Amino acid sequence: MVKALVVDDEALLRELFEQMLESQGYDVAVASNGEEALDLLKADQFEVVLLDLMLGPVSGFTVLEEIHQMYYPPVILVMTGYGSTDVAIQAMKSGAADFIMKPVDPDVLDIRIRKALDERRAQRLAITDGLTSLYNRRYFEERLEEETRRARRYSRPMSIMMLDIDFFKQFNDNNGHLKGDQVLREIAQVLLRFSRETDIVARYGGEEFVMILPETDAHNSGLLAERIRISVDETIFEGQENIPSGNVTLSIGVSCLAGDEGGHDTLERADQALYKSKQNGRNQTTILE
Ligand code: GH3
Ligand code: MG
Ligand code: MG
Repeated sequence: MVKALVVDDEALLRELFEQMLESQGYDVAVASNGEEALDLLKADQFEVVLLDLMLGPVSGFTVLEEIHQMYYPPVILVMTGYGSTDVAIQAMKSGAADFIMKPVDPDVLDIRIRKALDERRAQRLAITDGLTSLYNRRYFEERLEEETRRARRYSRPMSIMMLDIDFFKQFNDNNGHLKGDQVLREIAQVLLRFSRETDIVARYGGEEFVMILPETDAHNSGLLAERIRISVDETIFEGQENIPSGNVTLSIGVSCLAGDEGGHDTLERADQALYKSKQNGRNQTTILE
């Protein structure tokens, strides 16, 4: 069941939309103002929000902005009355997926919601690695350019961390690919657990991961790298007893945006740092500022 939130200050319309959506098979919650909507959105994961923009003190646009900051934002359809196309356009520019002109036919409403959800799903798939659910390499490359520009513009630090599983071929050879895949998924979870919302965590290639750490200097990314490395070192993975070292570990390389180099130069240095960690015996972090 798709979880939907209806936000409207008019009780009659709230009820109408609630009934309409329930009859179409949605799991519906309602809010009568912006504060209530934001509280519900914080407490629960909704897939779609039908948002009236004329809400009183906390306007629909404020709600829209707040939703935009969320890690897994729901799809937003704004509801507008006759003659308020300007507001609808403004809302779409602020991240709403579509707008619904009131009154609306229940079947039309359902189709518009499904379409918006499908679109969102397709967008997510295009930037996601299927095995780990981390970002994929293409998205990483895009964000590397963006984040480099941002760091330059505001003279802020930015670090890159590359991580590669040690002797993973042996792990696969001795345990099979399915167990190997499970290790990749679990390590992805470790990376997410240690990262901040603004970090970009991606699967770079087979058993190689990469992180962009905005607002982080080499020293602090080195500390983070060590926390991640130690956590993986201490995790017991199913099948690790079947490899010579008896333990799944990571080698890590860290670098920080320097001088007037481009993001790819920083990435290249993180890769060199990773190579050093491998050469020096693996299960370690190297920083090349
Ligand atoms: P090193 O310590 O030098 O990194 O050694 P390694 O064996 O980890 O490195 P190598 O590059 O020789 O082998 C990488 C292995 O990673 C090969 C392949 O079996 C495994 N691998 C790559 N992608 C996947 C995947 O999607 N699933 C699984 N299960 N294994 C993968
Ligand atoms: Mg490896
Ligand atoms: Mg490798």
